[in-house]
Amino acid sequence: MKIQINDKLIMKKQHPCGAKELLVLRAGMDFRLRCTGCGREFMMPRIKLEKYIKQIISQDQDGEQHV
Ligand SMILES: [Zn+2]
Repeated sequence: MKIQINDKLIMKKQHPCGAKELLVLRAGMDFRLRCTGCGREFMMPRIKLEKYIKQIISQDQDGEQHV
């Protein structure tokens, strides 16, 4: 699974605030994510994160969205 910085992740499980979209701030073994609903930032290990991803929306440099 390819996840890059600035990608939006649609999650299977929603955040306590009700939002299902996360923005990737940092990628690696651990990911730093920001909830698009409440703006809270948190870390999540890749193994755990991949389980909850439903869809990845990556954004190229032109700002064009690819599903
Ligand atoms: Zn939230």
